Amino acid sequence: MARARTRSPSTRRSGTAKRRVKRLAGAQVLTLDARRIPLIYKKNNQAHRIILRLDMSAGNVVVVLPRRASREQGRHFALTNKAWIRERLSLLPEGIPFAPGKQLPFLGQPHRIRHRPKARGVVWCEDGEIHVAGRLEHLARRVEDWLKLEARREISELAHDKAALIGKKVRRVRIRDPKTRWASCADSGELAFSWRLMLAPKFVIDYVVAHEVAHLCEMNHGARFWRIVAELTRDVKKARNWLAENGLDLHRYGRGDGEPALRPTIA
Ligand SMILES: [Zn+2]
Repeated sequence: MARARTRSPSTRRSGTAKRRVKRLAGAQVLTLDARRIPLIYKKNNQAHRIILRLDMSAGNVVVVLPRRASREQGRHFALTNKAWIRERLSLLPEGIPFAPGKQLPFLGQPHRIRHRPKARGVVWCEDGEIHVAGRLEHLARRVEDWLKLEARREISELAHDKAALIGKKVRRVRIRDPKTRWASCADSGELAFSWRLMLAPKFVIDYVVAHEVAHLCEMNHGARFWRIVAELTRDVKKARNWLAENGLDLHRYGRGDGEPALRPTIA
């Protein structure tokens, strides 16, 4: 579970220490254009200089302070490197909220969200659109709940079928929204999957399920494990490439505009 990091600027302490640094109000937040980005200070006695790091998963800027550097020096350093922070942030994909008119790739196919305030029912998929009944303020939650339900149905069935092929039993399938993994397998035989997989093409879902089911036999990624995966699904390489290329994109959905996405892996 690695957090995304980017190469960051750093400076010798003496560079900033010479200047007088004013104590500013609200010292924990960096204002950048319209955004307010939290500054998190971390002391590191091994550090020789102040280092800036973007914590993509938390959406904040970490200021690593060597033993003798003060927070004011750290803040000053962050302020003088606003351009670097702005550039790194601009590289992050922006969130796509569940809102009327927005598109989401249900099973890999673009589907537009349509608000149907007067319709009966909750959420249904029809003619390439996802229709959501009820009040607007419930729309985002309803779309997410619906994706979780679809994931439970689709993934549970796949997992039980694949497990039966190798004479194993799935104890339980859980649907979650982990930050850094698509799925996981516990010793107890319990499998967990991200509902975001419902935004990927079917061959990708099939691969991720096969991968976790294969862990019911082999709790490692050795040659035997991959042989079992190959028995359970067809497009292993294609699916892994797809996830590497598009995985981060799936984390944009259901998040507010400008919220950073995260890079997950498969366990
Ligand atoms: Zn694995």
